[in-house]
Amino acid sequence: MKILQDLSYEELCSLVADMGEKPFRARQIYEGLMHGKKISELPIPQAMRTALVEVYADEPVKIQRVFTAKDGTKKYLFELWDGNIIEGVLMAYKYGNTQCVSTQVGCRMGCKFCASTLGGRIRDLTAGEILSEVLTVNRSEGGTLKERKVTNVVLMGSGEPFDNYDAVVKFLRNVTAEGGICISARNVSLSTCGLVPEMRRFAEEGIPLNLTVSLHATTDAERRRTMPIAARYSIAEILGACTFYFEKTGRRYIFEYSLIEGENADMVHAEQLASLLKGRPCHVNLIRLNPVKERNLKGTDERTAQAFLKALTSLGISATLRRSMGADIGGACGQLRARFLHGGDEGGPADN
Ligand code: SAH
Repeated sequence: MKILQDLSYEELCSLVADMGEKPFRARQIYEGLMHGKKISELPIPQAMRTALVEVYADEPVKIQRVFTAKDGTKKYLFELWDGNIIEGVLMAYKYGNTQCVSTQVGCRMGCKFCASTLGGRIRDLTAGEILSEVLTVNRSEGGTLKERKVTNVVLMGSGEPFDNYDAVVKFLRNVTAEGGICISARNVSLSTCGLVPEMRRFAEEGIPLNLTVSLHATTDAERRRTMPIAARYSIAEILGACTFYFEKTGRRYIFEYSLIEGENADMVHAEQLASLLKGRPCHVNLIRLNPVKERNLKGTDERTAQAFLKALTSLGISATLRRSMGADIGGACGQLRARFLHGGDEGGPADN
């Protein structure tokens, strides 16, 4: 099936014209969809709805289950129209709610610490499917287009956004479009494991979002141990692409650095990281690795993490240690989906 939410407002206008319908129908359809409605719920004539659902998925992304953590973080299991399962997270902050979205079903980057990659990549999501994750959650939280319940979006769920480049860029244009859910690019973060050519290409798209790079190591040799992509692109090339991004957009960039016990969290790593990043317009987000059962890697303890943070900041690097949110519900990427698919504890499938 095709995905109606893939279309921009302008594209929807052409579709309505091609169907021989009156132009004002495009606005009705667009607004309905942006409110998270199914095609079968749109305020248009029945004949039009019927014609549309023959071609387009009525509900591309359906909320299957919601898990709420003690800290209020909500984890969503979504079922796609073709039965595939993806996940998303909604985190409540003082300034609003940040939704973490998936860009692929699974992932093929193979990072050793990441649950999303355990079964490889099943398929890419389309722009409209990614958008539907946001629209569906906004609606289920009681949000509208004027009073959004989803105020920020991070592309940090399952999948590598730049491995699904065209769909992701289209999603970004549609999610920021006026008249739609209209989330400002400044409230959007995209995280990549460091696909250098796509980082450079993205710098020229004119979408001033927060570019985040998963670094997780200070030397290429160490990075190769946990991130297969490091065999393809060096840290030097990644830093070069970051500089290019800054030149093109004026936006500082962010590094994710998950602290892994016995791997990347010694004082010497803090010093190496500081000398790599010194003087760069960047910020470092530290997080203690969320242990993933299937992988033999653990996060550091809180004290080590605090010491790492202190060392970095005293060396002049802007850094924060992020709280790990929703740990009691399997908050790390791909954990909930993996548990669901393998029929584990509370995430186990109910009837299939
Ligand atoms: N593919 C993209 C985005 C998805 S992952 C990327 O690699 O950046 C979002 C972030 O969570 C990445 O920084 C990723 O490295 C990190 N991550 C994955 N598994 C984790 C875990 N078990 N604990 C902590 N962070 C993890």
